[in-house]
Amino acid sequence: MSALANPAVAPTTASKDAGEHLLEVRDLAVHFALKRSFSDRLARRGGQVARAVDGVSLTLDRGELLALVGESGSGKTTTALAALRLLEPTAGTVLLEGQDITKLPHSDLRPLRRRAQLIHQDPYAALDPRLRTRDLIAEALRIHGLTPSKEAERAAVSDALEKVGLTPVETFAERYPHQLSGGQRQRVAIAGSLVLGPSLLVADEPVSMLDVSVRAGILQLLDGLRRDEGVGILMITHDLATAAHVSDRVAVMYHGNLVELGPARTVIDRPQHPYTQALIYAVPRVHRDEERVRTLPGEPPDASRVPSGCRFHPRCTFCEERCRSEVPSLLPATGDPGVLVACHLATEGALTTTRKDP
Ligand code: SF4
Repeated sequence: MSALANPAVAPTTASKDAGEHLLEVRDLAVHFALKRSFSDRLARRGGQVARAVDGVSLTLDRGELLALVGESGSGKTTTALAALRLLEPTAGTVLLEGQDITKLPHSDLRPLRRRAQLIHQDPYAALDPRLRTRDLIAEALRIHGLTPSKEAERAAVSDALEKVGLTPVETFAERYPHQLSGGQRQRVAIAGSLVLGPSLLVADEPVSMLDVSVRAGILQLLDGLRRDEGVGILMITHDLATAAHVSDRVAVMYHGNLVELGPARTVIDRPQHPYTQALIYAVPRVHRDEERVRTLPGEPPDASRVPSGCRFHPRCTFCEERCRSEVPSLLPATGDPGVLVACHLATEGALTTTRKDP
């Protein structure tokens, strides 16, 4: 059962009326049919289905930064792409500023692309090396027919460059991508999105390919955009330290499901779900004597083989018999009702936030 489908959690995840959230995702599913194997053909049965996303519900408000975290293959990028209609959802509903965009015909998607922009992980690949910065940013305006005059275009480009901190504007406007550092390229990519005046930015691992020295600057830029411009930001990251740095809330995904959702500081300081605890203990510390770093036991999940009951049970050190058969719902955690957690023990208060050794 999803958070929104469950009346017990409705006040926490959807306390606003439909349409008041910037983005509302309800029971989103994205399944991919896999090619039939030789044995499937022999047995005359259909191929397997990869359940990349399987019933995710979440909301994002204007000016909010929500971090979607999890291991590679947990479904976080697929969730974001489906929320933007860059992938077709198998089931579920996506509301953007109150408008149901799930079934919008492709011919009506262009205005949506302007309101909801994707920032790619790789700023090196995102920019055309043959274009100067001013043309890279103006290109988006031209595609959307938003260039009434050359002067208006130049003013819009300058404004976008200023917002992302690339000043003096005249200097950066004339540079090609190869004349920019990695951090500056990511700022140009963000300016190319901002120039369209979006209300939603989806940032897919926005700092993972940058040098450590410039990561904080990009995160501060995103933080400033949501505060000053009121843009809602859905940030996908596998790095909990990044999530803790700037996000208001953290949503943790495992095997296509949300397993924990709550205020960032609370989730980082007092993780409820054993998977979140394992992720936090797996973050290397500078002072290793403070806490021992532990690796997450077992292998990352295969989306075509969904375990019965709790999907995390094959890797969980707290697993009980019922965990193998009963699917846990996303419910308020005992002691931290502002946090939703999908774990039988955590919702009953039978789990400490101190993780057992694997
Ligand atoms: Fe572990 Fe059971 Fe909780 Fe799943 S429901 S996370 S298996 S304790």
